[in-house]
Amino acid sequence: MSNHPEKHPEEQLSAYLDGELGEEDRMLVESHLEECPECRMLVDELLSNQRLLLSAFESMTPPEELEASVAAHISKEAHPLPVLKRTLSFALSAISFFAVIGLVLGALYIKMFAGAVKLMKPLLLLSTHLIADMPLLMGVVILFSVMAFALSAVSLLRLLRTTTS
Ligand SMILES: [Zn+2]
Repeated sequence: MSNHPEKHPEEQLSAYLDGELGEEDRMLVESHLEECPECRMLVDELLSNQRLLLSAFESMTPPEELEASVAAHISKEAHPLPVLKRTLSFALSAISFFAVIGLVLGALYIKMFAGAVKLMKPLLLLSTHLIADMPLLMGVVILFSVMAFALSAVSLLRLLRTTTS
């Protein structure tokens, strides 16, 4: 008890335990600890405090709510693209569906128009200059039919592409 230095390096002990001391200071603290049971006790206390803190950290588990909210957040962040893709493909399918319906109705209308033209044929036959217009009218009807078929084919292809991808 009597041969240890009077000055206790108390303020250096935690730095010593954390390995933050330089070579010289570390040697001084170590030699002091060998001679001073008071400081050894202090070091033991500091060590047990550190262990207590560490075990407290280890035993600390995040609340389940936090875990759930984090999981929800992650799933929300991970899925915007598929949701957007699904919505987009649905919209495209709906647009294609209505386009096909519209084209079919348009084609039917054109057919009805053509039928009406056929019915009007006897009347048209009465006029030579209206007969001369017939090929042009039929050409327009055929052109519209081809366009309707082409557009519905494109729509169907788009529909197939959106449903398969
Ligand atoms: Zn001491």
